[in-house]
Amino acid sequence: MRAALGLTLFCLVAVAACSGGDSRKGGQGRGLPIIDGVQHQGSRLIGRMTSLGRGMSGARGTGRLCGIRGIEGQRIPPITSEVEGCGLAQPVRVTHVDGLRLSQPAIMDCETAAALHRWVRKGVRPAVGRAGGGAAGLRVAAHYACRPRNHQSGARVSEHGRGRAIDISAIELANGQEMNVLQDWHNSTHSRALRQMHRAACGTFGTTLGPGSDGLHEDHFHYDTARHRGGPYCR
Ligand SMILES: [Zn+2]
Repeated sequence: MRAALGLTLFCLVAVAACSGGDSRKGGQGRGLPIIDGVQHQGSRLIGRMTSLGRGMSGARGTGRLCGIRGIEGQRIPPITSEVEGCGLAQPVRVTHVDGLRLSQPAIMDCETAAALHRWVRKGVRPAVGRAGGGAAGLRVAAHYACRPRNHQSGARVSEHGRGRAIDISAIELANGQEMNVLQDWHNSTHSRALRQMHRAACGTFGTTLGPGSDGLHEDHFHYDTARHRGGPYCR
């Protein structure tokens, strides 16, 4: 059992070490097909076993998941996958970060949850300020999903497949309005705030992609905690 877990961890680390961002194509593709079923399998598994992981979060705003006050949610059982490179040894399912509600519970590892928390505090809240009554939530477009980068068949496993990535498509405001990446990045009263928070994500995350980076991220920010040899990859 321990040996198996160790091997899984080793594989995760080994794969992560030679991986790039969501936008980098090519490399030594392993012919990974586009997979739609694994995540659902994982979700069912999690659905059955959720009760095991409860007890990690308290009242709203006082959760302490991953040892960090302000991250709320639950630890959940390891996610395994038949696809090499996918899966997550110590996943958490995050529901709130620094008081901001996530539009859907997001599965990731603690390092990514910590980065998200840091970005909300240092990037999102200062950029939003009092606009719309302040930031209230994050619209999560994607989190853990076993799939190749950019959904391209043959590409290597995305950081999403390792639980090290999150896609954000909007910041929800207290007054019910939102700062929407697709609609507000260009020529909107919110474009400055969106650009400011996106810049602030660089370094907190290892990879930051958004509108203008590669044509594939016009409607969301992609953030992941991959480590790149040349430092953070921010576009
Ligand atoms: Zn992404």
